[in-house]
Amino acid sequence: MFIVASAPQVWGLEMSREVRYDSETIFWMKRTAGNTISGTFYTTIVTSFLLVCVLMLWGRVSHVHAQQAEKPVGSHKPVIVASTTQIADFARQIVGDRWHVVSILAPGADPHTYMPTPKDAQIAASADLTIENGLHLEGKNWMATLAKDAGKPLITATEGLKPIVLEQGGEQINDPHAWFSPRNAAIYVNNILRAVSRMDPDGAVEYSARAKLYLQELRVLDAWIREQFNQVHPQQRILVTSHDAFNYFAKEYGFKNEAPIGWSTGAELGAGMTPDKLRQVMQSIKSRGVKALFVESSVNPKLMREIASETGTKIGGQLYSDSMGEAGTAGETYIGMMRENVLTIVTALH
Ligand SMILES: [Zn+2]
Repeated sequence: MFIVASAPQVWGLEMSREVRYDSETIFWMKRTAGNTISGTFYTTIVTSFLLVCVLMLWGRVSHVHAQQAEKPVGSHKPVIVASTTQIADFARQIVGDRWHVVSILAPGADPHTYMPTPKDAQIAASADLTIENGLHLEGKNWMATLAKDAGKPLITATEGLKPIVLEQGGEQINDPHAWFSPRNAAIYVNNILRAVSRMDPDGAVEYSARAKLYLQELRVLDAWIREQFNQVHPQQRILVTSHDAFNYFAKEYGFKNEAPIGWSTGAELGAGMTPDKLRQVMQSIKSRGVKALFVESSVNPKLMREIASETGTKIGGQLYSDSMGEAGTAGETYIGMMRENVLTIVTALH
């Protein structure tokens, strides 16, 4: 089915539902919102707010186009090279067309096990600013190495964020999958905003305006997710996925999460699959009456299919985990991938 819209604003008139906020979310909104919003910018905020609500309620409509692309030949724009698709999307939301934004990872790629190519080194060499997730998401610090080898400035998008600490084999590990909480996504955005404003002061007002608007969209997303999960009975709020990527998401939205593979798919401390983890997941599925398991966009689904078959549980769908969707899909942006994940989870577990 195709939807052709000549004027997206018209959709704003069709919205009849309200998005409600709980007290904690209102606190978060106050904390992250700018001090004053006035005049035409206020109008822009309100219009955008309505549009975002409509897009979310429609459910399957994409947001701003985001896709990895090399810098066009002859372009004089400065270049941001981000490690992941999510970070590239956050950057693109802030810089608009003033910069060219490239992601090293393609949709569906796994940051834990990724091995940079000579082409990646060329892309890093074209950068004016490079951005990593940090917290060892990029296995063996491949993004920091690319930046260092190219002699380019690097910022860490998770800087200042309070990580979830995982206990793995007696060791403490900071969970790198922080973007799965929209509150943390706001920290990514603010870190990127600071860096681009510092490097291009002439664009600072513009970057700040876009960031404020995008933070508003993230707050709407967060409120919408909470509303959607009201449809899932508290006892069914169990998220069984391939690898342990959903701790922040689960903590934010009141889910328990289980995964046979640890925090990384690579051969790192506390990572990978162990017989103990597998046994624990199988027991949980049976004892808790888990309705559905989920495969992930960046992880081979074979193991989860075997667990589903072994336990007689269905696969509830694929979730975007460490990367967003291909260009042209509903999961091609951060907001799109979060929305699609929530719809998939609600459909499988309600
Ligand atoms: Zn991961």
